Amino acid sequence: MPRLQQGVSLKPYNTFGIDVTSDWWYEIGKEADLLQLLSDNPVPRLPILVLGGGSNILFTQDFEGLVLKNNIPGIDVQEEGEDHVVLRVGSGVIWHDLVEFSLEKGWGGLENLSLIPGTVGAAPIQNIGAYGAELKDIFVSLEAIHLGTLSKQSFSLSDCRFGYRDSVFKREAKGKFMITNVSLRLSKNPVLNLSYGAIKQELEKLGITTPSVMDVGHTVMAIRNSKLPNPKQIGNAGSFFKNPVIPETAFSPLLSAYPQMPHFIQEDGIKIPAGWLIETAGWKGKSFNNCGVYPKQALVLVNYDGASGKDIIHLAHAIQESVFSIFGITLELEVNIH
Ligand code: FAD
Ligand code: NAP
Repeated sequence: MPRLQQGVSLKPYNTFGIDVTSDWWYEIGKEADLLQLLSDNPVPRLPILVLGGGSNILFTQDFEGLVLKNNIPGIDVQEEGEDHVVLRVGSGVIWHDLVEFSLEKGWGGLENLSLIPGTVGAAPIQNIGAYGAELKDIFVSLEAIHLGTLSKQSFSLSDCRFGYRDSVFKREAKGKFMITNVSLRLSKNPVLNLSYGAIKQELEKLGITTPSVMDVGHTVMAIRNSKLPNPKQIGNAGSFFKNPVIPETAFSPLLSAYPQMPHFIQEDGIKIPAGWLIETAGWKGKSFNNCGVYPKQALVLVNYDGASGKDIIHLAHAIQESVFSIFGITLELEVNIH
């Protein structure tokens, strides 16, 4: 039976390893727990934070409210056809457990999204993406409970208004809902996307010419393990900033000044890797007050040992100012600040 707890340390529950406390804490194992808690207790008047794996959050102060730790389980086949399957997944399921489940079955759609930390319920919040795949490519719908009215709502693909690391849940609906389950459509005849990053080269190195979804998943895992800090060893929340997409008019003079600048043409402008901007501005590998810029990937800020959230946000602001003064580009934060 879940229990309302007071004064809980959030250090083990955020991948930056920031040592803050939440006034109240409650673990949600099923939808009914949430409905019962919020209808029986005076706590709904407090600010509420739904927490998954804490892998996209930076706490800069104690949380004066109620943290709902999401543990809602379950992976069920909702619909099955000759060429596809629709899974209904509990929002507390660990994202990579779902990926492994689909790889075992040989179902395609999640392989490029292997090894992203966190829960299924947080995946729609920023439309998680990696190696040319995004959640929206396989998304069918989700169910959520409004934290004020306790009404249940269903969101279709268009309702979620997914964008680049963006959705309605980072905008008008921010903080208003707890997502309880997500339905995803996977393919039984997958078309693999190998065009991105080092996937093709890695497969070639292994001598794999006709890869399975499992091969692609394992390749993505190997690349990620070689490049990214493991939060169990070094605190971090992955990419701290979004990659900026700038208009052609701003891009042309920059490319003349920096002909080696990597760039990718998008529908709405030109994407410049934020990691390249930060590295070129001289920040890669630098450390300050127990936090710093990861030496292998400048887009990742790290907590080496006991940094506070304020130390890390201070470093992030210094990087933003420096990149703006050199390139005239504003880096937007990807990580959620609390
Ligand atoms: P949390 O950090 O717990 O929460 C994030 C936000 O979502 C918060 O605002 C929270 O309130 C809200 N939220 C969480 N669950 C729910 C819910 N059920 N209902 C409503 N709101 C909710 N991201 C990518 O997109 N691509 C990557 O390749 C990637 N790589 C990463 C690598 C590393 C090493 C790390 C540490 C992070 C990486 N991330 C990446 C970021 C992160 O893993 C994802 O954003 C992930 O979806 C966050 O899940 P979480 O459960 O940890 O969310
Ligand atoms: P990378 O392969 O070194 O590439 C650097 C950047 O260039 C990436 O951010 C990527 O943008 C962009 N890019 C590369 N090839 C591209 C292509 N063919 N078309 C369009 N854009 C391209 O990146 P990395 O740091 O090792 O990360 C690999 C993938 O994992 C990326 O997709 C990245 O987003 C994802 N990742 C995300 C996080 C996170 O916390 N959000 C953390 C680690 C890794 P995109 O980022 O837009 O894909």
